Amino acid sequence: MEIRAVGGYDEVGKNCTAVRIGNEAFIFDCGVHLENFIQYTEDEHLLSIRPEDLIKVGAVPDISRISDWKSNLKMILPTHAHLDHIGALPYLASSLKVPIAATPFTIEVLKAILQDNGMKLRNPLKTVHPNSSIRVSSTITAEFIHVTHSTPHTAMIALHTPEGTILYANDFKFDLTPTLGKKPNLKRLEELGRQGVKALIVDSTYAADPRKMPSEAVARQMLYDVLLGVNSKGKAVIVTTFSSHIARLKSIIEMGHKLGRKIVFLGRSLHKYSTAAERVGIVNFSREVQMIKYPKQMKKELRRIAARKEKYLLVVTGHQGEPQSTLSKMVNGKLPFSFSPEDHVVFSCKTIPTETNIRNRERLETSLRSKHVRMFLDVHASGHAAREDLRDLLHLVKPRHIIPAHGGIEMRKAMASLAEELGYSTGKDVHLLDDGSSIRL
Ligand SMILES: [Zn+2]
Repeated sequence: MEIRAVGGYDEVGKNCTAVRIGNEAFIFDCGVHLENFIQYTEDEHLLSIRPEDLIKVGAVPDISRISDWKSNLKMILPTHAHLDHIGALPYLASSLKVPIAATPFTIEVLKAILQDNGMKLRNPLKTVHPNSSIRVSSTITAEFIHVTHSTPHTAMIALHTPEGTILYANDFKFDLTPTLGKKPNLKRLEELGRQGVKALIVDSTYAADPRKMPSEAVARQMLYDVLLGVNSKGKAVIVTTFSSHIARLKSIIEMGHKLGRKIVFLGRSLHKYSTAAERVGIVNFSREVQMIKYPKQMKKELRRIAARKEKYLLVVTGHQGEPQSTLSKMVNGKLPFSFSPEDHVVFSCKTIPTETNIRNRERLETSLRSKHVRMFLDVHASGHAAREDLRDLLHLVKPRHIIPAHGGIEMRKAMASLAEELGYSTGKDVHLLDDGSSIRL
């Protein structure tokens, strides 16, 4: 078998790994590099964007790296609905011509992205339920093992092949008290460890962070503290978070009810992900929440809300300070809402540390501060495994080979150093691949 790093090994973003077993090949994930993607697409109409231009600016994986495998390709297997894992599919998948198999929420989100942009894919879309398998060729099956992360229906994918099992574990955490959905399927991972895993491709993003990542229940408690433990009587309460983080949104809604406030979601992406989650039966937000999607409707409703803002809990897009988001527009007067001193703005997120985000957030926070708004930052727990979770994964699945992924060389070296603590050695059974390089096992 051969494992080829296509994208996401020199940076966090545009994740894509290809594997070939004999003359059959598969792709795990096909995401965008968000910052490069947004920068490039801001002024372009999405339909006029050419895949080769996106590749050139580093916005999507360079799939020319697997052009020699094109006729061997059998299926594309995305692990979850985040854009750095599925966002390149609308641009690249049609030319690859093979089916895409993913969990129900992931497929719904992909469909919503296509619909939003007026795009179509010729690839058949196949739904695989978490903790079940799909036959991907006459001798190979892909098993989607349920794990916890910051979006629903996230899976590790075990590719069972005649050459042994490859476990692709990009983006997960071991959350034993999730606030939505099941616990991670540790029992199955342990079984795989007993049966033998030939190669583990693994999320290295927080491999240098020596802790166990706190549960989503901790983030929920943090939200409880700032929303119910702080007096917001007579003030606006505005929360911003990741639109794809359905578990977090569910907690925010529950607390809005406890506060006796009417809950309103403002912004296209909140509507998009909530609707996808409803379609697959994960939640039923639209029964409890007013969703406002379009700018025109938003202006009208916000005018009404602003007059009685103490009655509402507003959930808005724009946690990274994105200038075109609802929150930024509310702050800079492009939407009819005026902040009063001591209104509350809760950032249920962390700033993803790219230059653009840091600059945007600084601008947003400065404006809010000048209006004497109370800000609550970092009300959040990450969806990624930290070093001690990663150690547990290695103990559970006992892979013969480890390929650190999902991050630049420093992050992947941290993963390698953890493996070395457990008796592996880099170059022998830990393989540091750069984008474009391969390993034969
Ligand atoms: Zn993710």
